[in-house]
Amino acid sequence: AAAHAVAPVAWLSGAPTPASRPHASHKGSFGDVAVVGGEGLSLRGMGMGGAALLAASAALHAGAGRVWLSLLDESEAATAAMLSAQPELMPRRFEALALDELTVVAGCGGGVAIAPLMAQLLDRAPRLVLDADALNAIAADPALAALLLRRHRQGGAATVLTPHPLEAARLLKTSSAAVQADRLGAAAELAARSGCTVVLKGSGSIIAAPDGVPRLNPTGNARLASPGTGDILAGLIGARLAAARAAPPQAALEAATAACWQHGAAADGWPVGQALTALALARRLAPG
Ligand code: AMP
Ligand code: MG
Repeated sequence: AAAHAVAPVAWLSGAPTPASRPHASHKGSFGDVAVVGGEGLSLRGMGMGGAALLAASAALHAGAGRVWLSLLDESEAATAAMLSAQPELMPRRFEALALDELTVVAGCGGGVAIAPLMAQLLDRAPRLVLDADALNAIAADPALAALLLRRHRQGGAATVLTPHPLEAARLLKTSSAAVQADRLGAAAELAARSGCTVVLKGSGSIIAAPDGVPRLNPTGNARLASPGTGDILAGLIGARLAAARAAPPQAALEAATAACWQHGAAADGWPVGQALTALALARRLAPG
């Protein structure tokens, strides 16, 4: 019989140590995050506005200094709903975001409205977490895929893609069954093709950079199979990336690794007999 090839993988074996906050710090010291997404907090949209709100809420609870939320649904009703759910968030129109200075989490509940913003995001945001419909937009448009690759050619950009198996399959032009049959290979392939750090979500999330051995996150459990938990992860990675001290590509890998660990560990420590819901998960995140 042919020898069975085993792909190398790094098994993460310890929680990242949280940095303590210097006494003389202020909210500007921990990094600013903007979340772009959320096509409908009102009935006019697609009804996915909650996703962006969850991501923003997670970034806030994970210790981001300031969190802006650019809802793609610009109705007053949507903004009012957002502020009543989480008054610490700051509503801001996309055009008014200082994209060149921010860590941006894009695509959570983005619907089709995120697609026209993607070129600007890829071009300008130095630190970027792309989830859900931001990934679908790239999968549907080769010009955006080219922009994604180009953003890393000059160096200086940190990008994390957070696909679940179906989103990864769309990006790789394959099926989710094929992705699931070789999760390590799919994550590594997507990282190599995109030039980004990739988090392939699911039971045993894989974190892969364009080079190096992919990492397997050992925390987390099936309680996370619940609506909105992926949005929490995206916001958490955004907060870690905004606070990162490492230089860009390494910062993306470290932020993704730490966030996956923390997200899973929060689920592992969940009180017995209580359902895990995404907003409650955000509230249990600690600044790292
Ligand atoms: P999404 O598919 O975007 O909703 O994201 C779901 C989140 O929950 C991801 O972070 C997954 O890694 C995590 N998750 C879902 N199902 C499981 C599972 N069975 N075991 C561990 N983590 C899971
Ligand atoms: Mg998702």
